[in-house]
Amino acid sequence: MNRQGDAAPPRKRVTCPACGGPAWFDAGNPWRPFCSERCRNHDLGAWASETYRVASEAPEADDAQPPAPPARH
Ligand SMILES: [Zn+2]
Repeated sequence: MNRQGDAAPPRKRVTCPACGGPAWFDAGNPWRPFCSERCRNHDLGAWASETYRVASEAPEADDAQPPAPPARH
């Protein structure tokens, strides 16, 4: 017995990792968890360049550590 009414699946909203704005995390958002195609491409580009940079440089000088992610409660 499928009762309809209050059984509507809630849309999950997440924070876009690229711009920090709201993004829908469901089938209606092909760029999830990003809010738009622009943000997704931007993040992929940044990730790729970062990977290249790290791969091409020898990590011997270790005084430039990446910032730690903020602690979450
Ligand atoms: Zn965004």
